[in-house]
Amino acid sequence: RKFNFSAGPAALPEEVLAQARDEMLDWHGTGLSIMEMSHRSDEYVSVAQQAEQDLRDLMAIPNNYKVLFLQGGATSQFSMVPLNLLRGKTSADFINTGVWSKKAIAEAKRYCNVNIAASTEANNFSSAPTQQELTLSSEAAYVHYTPNETIGGVEFDYVPETNGVPLVADMSSNILSRPIDVSKFGLIYAGAQKNIGPAGLTVVIVRDDLLGETLPGTPTMFDYAVHAAADSMNNTPPTFGWYLAGLIFQWLKRQGGVEAISAMNQRKAEKLYAAIDASEFYANPVAIANRSWMNIPFTLADAALDKVFIQEADQAGLLNLQGHRSVGGMRASIYNAVPEAAVDALTEFMAHFEKTRG
Ligand code: PLP
Repeated sequence: RKFNFSAGPAALPEEVLAQARDEMLDWHGTGLSIMEMSHRSDEYVSVAQQAEQDLRDLMAIPNNYKVLFLQGGATSQFSMVPLNLLRGKTSADFINTGVWSKKAIAEAKRYCNVNIAASTEANNFSSAPTQQELTLSSEAAYVHYTPNETIGGVEFDYVPETNGVPLVADMSSNILSRPIDVSKFGLIYAGAQKNIGPAGLTVVIVRDDLLGETLPGTPTMFDYAVHAAADSMNNTPPTFGWYLAGLIFQWLKRQGGVEAISAMNQRKAEKLYAAIDASEFYANPVAIANRSWMNIPFTLADAALDKVFIQEADQAGLLNLQGHRSVGGMRASIYNAVPEAAVDALTEFMAHFEKTRG
């Protein structure tokens, strides 16, 4: 296997892929695949419940929060959040730090007035605003932000303080990467295809007092309370994603949990930033305090070399390093399942490339 720096769907732990392969034809001696069983069977329900419990353990999720296993991707949450969380109010605060914030903002505008509490667009989204720079409104139904911008590689180094207004976070690309205090949030959502598992599953963690009041016309499938009441089985859930997420959560526990993976993530990121900063040939534009541990964009001094960089990296077994199509350059996504050896191989390759081509 090669090293995979894809932003998503992203690298999965080899151990988990092998376990899923071994179990796929005959799950625990039942003579069936877990993928062939009813989601309401005792077997599947045990898989589903264990996955939820493991996630609760890993993130220390308080009892007054529901954990939902949904479909529709993080993108569906861009509308599901306002449909459920406006609760009689007509505005929400949004912090704009890049492409994913903007998409969430555009969707929310269909349902409410959006107050931009801060935007870093003027500096080309190369930092996150500080707490002092946020202009929050007391009328807001909630405050939405993107703790880690997957494309820009900008990560908040603090959790915004919102004076009791529910805080909503799109943690698609940094959930489970470092410890967080869930009780600071009203709602957390994440598409699974980075740190949780395969595409097709979306995890929502929501404080239970925020449930039960939706905008008129909200589809049943967009009502959190419906999913919460049915343990995410109002209809057929994304059974494969949920199953595989469960294996990942167990793998993460075996690694020592979020604290341990966080130390590894920090080390991986620091190594790569150090390599970029030590060179005149590579550059990363993000303010030091807001550099992402998960997604590290970088440019070459000569963009004409981008193509050959990608080609030679591919040949060296370092895959999916091209930057997002909207920004170009390179991007190394180094999620939980990307081993430190991948970062070592990448920094070695970068040094070699600079020497021979730079
Ligand atoms: N939000 C963030 C921060 C992302 O990185 C992504 C990327 O995939 C999305 C939202 C969109 O997620 P999905 O494709 O699951 O709708």
